Amino acid sequence: MTDIKSLNLQELTAELAQFDVQKFRSHQIYKWLHCNGVFSFDEMSNISKEFRAQLEKEYYIPHCIIEEKYESQLDDTVKYLFRLYDGEYVESVVMKYKYGYTICVSSQVGCKMGCNFCASTLAGFKRNLLPAEIESQIHAAQKDLGIRISHIVMMGIGEPLDNYDNVIKFLSLVNDKDGLYISLRDVTISTCGVVPRIYDLMDEGLPVTLTVSLHAPNDDIRSDMMPVNNKWGVDTLISACKEYANRTSRRVSFEYTLIKGVNDNRQCALELAAKLKGYLFHVNLIPVNDVAERGNVRSDDEDIRKFQQILKSRGINATIRRTLGKDINASCGQLRRKRNEGDSNENCC
Ligand code: SAH
Repeated sequence: MTDIKSLNLQELTAELAQFDVQKFRSHQIYKWLHCNGVFSFDEMSNISKEFRAQLEKEYYIPHCIIEEKYESQLDDTVKYLFRLYDGEYVESVVMKYKYGYTICVSSQVGCKMGCNFCASTLAGFKRNLLPAEIESQIHAAQKDLGIRISHIVMMGIGEPLDNYDNVIKFLSLVNDKDGLYISLRDVTISTCGVVPRIYDLMDEGLPVTLTVSLHAPNDDIRSDMMPVNNKWGVDTLISACKEYANRTSRRVSFEYTLIKGVNDNRQCALELAAKLKGYLFHVNLIPVNDVAERGNVRSDDEDIRKFQQILKSRGINATIRRTLGKDINASCGQLRRKRNEGDSNENCC
């Protein structure tokens, strides 16, 4: 069986040429898949029953079925655990902002990167998501909530730049005027620092926003937290970001998760400020969201503010992230892990 939803219009038209149908049918089918976001051939009401039956035999539509759904009582955040065609699970979070709805999507089933504060990596890596599966998270959430999503952040389970080709294909599908037609300016790709792929992304010339999970100003601290740093160290990573900002004229953001006694002292802030100075950069300070097994402690509010102040006073744009969906464990990776362990309800709101 072939995944029909990961094909672009040109590929779909070439694929369907083997059937005895008019050419415009491929356009109709493409719109059903990407604009309407249907998960079954039966819903394609302007396609004949016979042709739908033929399609059903040869192709499948990689869907996202809602397995669990949590709605925050504190804000409008909704978190989903989706089941995929092969019984694997991924998570997505929909957040409401003044400018509209943003979805945080997963890019892989699990993660190989092994960051020591993150839940996504705990249940192990299974496979890459197909372009259609990344897109189907948006379709499933939009349909369920009756909304239109305008912004995407690739900060769910997985490392997007470790599933590079599928992510690039997903971006072209999601940006297509016959599909969801989401502007690439409203898409953020978050990476733990797969440096060669950051250079590849610059070459694509796409107007996406790059966010880098930095979390430490030097190799000593960062290598302890993030194994990827042993391959591409802090200075190599920041150089790539400088080039990204220069070549694309787009601001690069750094995520900096603050963990008490690990990376939140004055020295860290000073070192970070010195390394980022003079570029189109932004730092997002995030108090660590403790994952039970990890034992990381959230920095004190006072220390977070001091850290921000040091960056700001040295000309570095820095904000403290507002936590949405606090009551539903909105950071990703935890539901899938629980589900795999067979006690999925522990995190219920
Ligand atoms: N692999 C990508 C995207 C997934 S993680 C990346 O590393 O950027 C999305 C963001 O959430 C990253 O900045 C990650 O470091 C952060 N994160 C993961 N676990 C966290 C936790 N327990 N508390 C706070 N932030 C966390």
